[in-house]
Amino acid sequence: MISCKSTDVSVNLTLMKDEFKTIEEKEKFQCWFFSALEHVEIINRLRDVRVCPICNEYVTLASTGKKISAYKFRIPNGLTDLVVDSSILHLVSVHNLVPDRSIIEALEKIKPRSSDS
Ligand SMILES: [Zn+2]
Repeated sequence: MISCKSTDVSVNLTLMKDEFKTIEEKEKFQCWFFSALEHVEIINRLRDVRVCPICNEYVTLASTGKKISAYKFRIPNGLTDLVVDSSILHLVSVHNLVPDRSIIEALEKIKPRSSDS
């Protein structure tokens, strides 16, 4: 079942180009990012696992090596919702890429980041 609302705004993950400067920065961000994503709605869950356009491998999670099935996160963002593909977990954990600011800002409203970061 495909869910789609008129307020959905798809985020293009191929625009992710910035890399984390240090492992520490990435680990700290990822810890917050993954826990914040646990609070958002998951839609359009499919059985298939996609191949990553960057590494041509299946989309996996760096920490566990587990394949990530295709689904989307729907993140409330004021009047609209951001719709983000599950492959963002791979792009962050494996490719050290920093998500779009709009995604970070929307998630900060759900789960504020600690002030020391
Ligand atoms: Zn990849």
